[in-house]
Amino acid sequence: MTKVKGFTSRIVHHDRLQRFSDGPIHAPIYNSVPYGYETTEGLEAVFQGKNTGHSYARQSTPTTDALQSMINQAEGGVGTLVFATGMAALNATFFALLKQGDHVIASQYLFGNTFSLLTTLENFGVSVTFADLTDARNAKAAMQPNTRLVFAETIANPGTQIPDLEALGQWCREEQLVFIVDNTLTSPYLFNPSKVGASLVMNSLSKYFSGHGTVLGGAITDTGHFDWQGYPHIFEGYRTGDPKKWALTQIKKKALRDMGGTLSSDAAYQISVGAETIALRMDRACHNALSLAQMLENHPKISRVHYPGLENHPQHHRARDWFRHNGAILSFDLAEGYDCADLLNRIDLVINATHLGDNRTLALPMASTIFFEMGAQRRAEFGIGERMIRCSVGIEETDDLLEAFQSALDSL
Ligand SMILES: *Cc1c(COP(=O)(O)O)cnc(C)c1O
Repeated sequence: MTKVKGFTSRIVHHDRLQRFSDGPIHAPIYNSVPYGYETTEGLEAVFQGKNTGHSYARQSTPTTDALQSMINQAEGGVGTLVFATGMAALNATFFALLKQGDHVIASQYLFGNTFSLLTTLENFGVSVTFADLTDARNAKAAMQPNTRLVFAETIANPGTQIPDLEALGQWCREEQLVFIVDNTLTSPYLFNPSKVGASLVMNSLSKYFSGHGTVLGGAITDTGHFDWQGYPHIFEGYRTGDPKKWALTQIKKKALRDMGGTLSSDAAYQISVGAETIALRMDRACHNALSLAQMLENHPKISRVHYPGLENHPQHHRARDWFRHNGAILSFDLAEGYDCADLLNRIDLVINATHLGDNRTLALPMASTIFFEMGAQRRAEFGIGERMIRCSVGIEETDDLLEAFQSALDSL
């Protein structure tokens, strides 16, 4: 059994790979908030970290533990913590590991709420430089003596830029900087950021990981690459045991326990059921996205398609070399004279909605929704076109999807 190598074989058997037990194949959902012990010493051991049992559901339950173990196995990490949302995971990580006076280098192509969160950190005395990390030299140029961590996403949305993750990972190792990679758009099925030297990996479980658009969740995985013995902000009390676990212990205590962005057992269970089919869903969605990108690229009413699977994408070689597929987010700019709403209203198969990683294809115009507040000038700086549409491509049959776009475009 332990020789099983395939992604899905391992994910659906992740529990049995560790320990086989007779009985139900699907674990129950544990909704108990408190956890009792036969002896006082038993409870004391849990509080003191000498025993890995549970005490109170804000920190862990057997159900969240099972999900953590599944994600950890999929990312090849040394430990994983789950949270109520992807944003809760990011908040927990930044607040547990950063202090006033620190400096962060982040990609300028970021999920909007992460961008907003990083600007909030500035209120707490943490400065942030946003740089174009598709070229790692821009990170090096932004380095300061107080730089602590570097943050990037595998594929940015909506522009689909891919940072030079390999060069960033190498450089962060040389400079002993914590390198955090948001793997949400690729998921552990397409890519493991551990391979490029990431210290910590974030996954929003609300997207491809769970896949069905019915549950929120987030996770942080420690890859074991970073030597936390050299990190100055680990509290004395957490500098015991295996140093590879120090950061996660601090995130668990100072952020998950104290801030309380806890994933419920019900949500953890739903996420782990969804996760069993990541590979099947993503194979289909990524194939659909590539077919759609190739069709749109040749359409006269479309001026540009942003999709890493197209050979003219500026970072196509990175997607080809690092990722199993090219993702299922694609954006395109309508040619001059055409209107986003006019097109989208004609594509009946596609739902007008934000979010990504649903089984259904979702689409929305960028300038008038997510990036509306930003204003035209900043949109131009961040590469958001005024006639740009983002599609989160779903798992419908390819022909239906192509036909829906083709006939809507033709009728414009
Ligand atoms: C959705 C998303 C997040 C936030 O995740 P939530 O679970 O919605 O809080 C973070 N990063 C990326 C790239 C995302 O797409």
